[in-house]
Amino acid sequence: MRITRPLRFGVAIAALSIVATACGGGEEARSVSSSAEAGNLVVGIKFDQPGLGLRNPDGSFTGFDVEVAKYVAGQLGVDEGNIEFREAPSAQRETLIENGEVDMVVATYSITDTRKEKVSFAGPYFVAGQSLLVSEDNTDITGPDTLEGRTLCSVTGSTPAQNIADEYPGVQLQPYDTYSACVEALRNGTVDAVTTDDIILAGYAAQSPGQFKVVGEPFTTENYGIGLALDDTEGRNQINDAIEEMVSSGAWEQAFNETVGDSGYELPAEPTVDRY
Ligand code: GLU
Repeated sequence: MRITRPLRFGVAIAALSIVATACGGGEEARSVSSSAEAGNLVVGIKFDQPGLGLRNPDGSFTGFDVEVAKYVAGQLGVDEGNIEFREAPSAQRETLIENGEVDMVVATYSITDTRKEKVSFAGPYFVAGQSLLVSEDNTDITGPDTLEGRTLCSVTGSTPAQNIADEYPGVQLQPYDTYSACVEALRNGTVDAVTTDDIILAGYAAQSPGQFKVVGEPFTTENYGIGLALDDTEGRNQINDAIEEMVSSGAWEQAFNETVGDSGYELPAEPTVDRY
């Protein structure tokens, strides 16, 4: 068959748009397995959470979430050098996935029903709980019930901020974009306490010895999942397999010990993947 000129032009346009979609970076959500097959992955992490997701001054990335991302990528056949890490602040995680700007998010990201309306989750790969960070010399704040009238910092779009707004209306909630900004506000006395997951707070406390302490028994359960596109069932299954392998091989515990372990945070029970 002879392909006529306009038809050939049409075929070229169609081919171009397939390439544009596969490359992602705009509008359409990605598929983890197609990106992995193409040999690279874009992963959203935190850049400012010591022990979990941290961008170091030399441009390298360290933390438990980073190790989980590298392990999962490896199981999907992607070398760690072919992972591009992008900052995924709490309030932007769903959007980054929905717009195809990242393949997945590994960023202290709690699995919730509301978020599941927009993205899907593999995991959990870790279970944490909400706590409070205060100055080392503070003796008044001991748990969420002692916060009435106090100024409490948390992050926009996070479950701990939402929980305080819903359950403790007498607390003056001060939302910032990042937890590191909250910790600076605590350091200079602008706020009385910071709230988020205990594992995150433990990392900040360890970073500034003698300045802060984590108080309050964990008062929520935060199941950390790996977020990906809503309809990417294949990707979710592959990531769940990778998490199970990471746990059963001992790599999960080793990664914990080499990252969060330094803060004194105790190794919790191994997580069980939820194949919903
Ligand atoms: N795990 C909580 C959440 O996903 C708090 C930590 C965070 O904001 O990254 O919202």
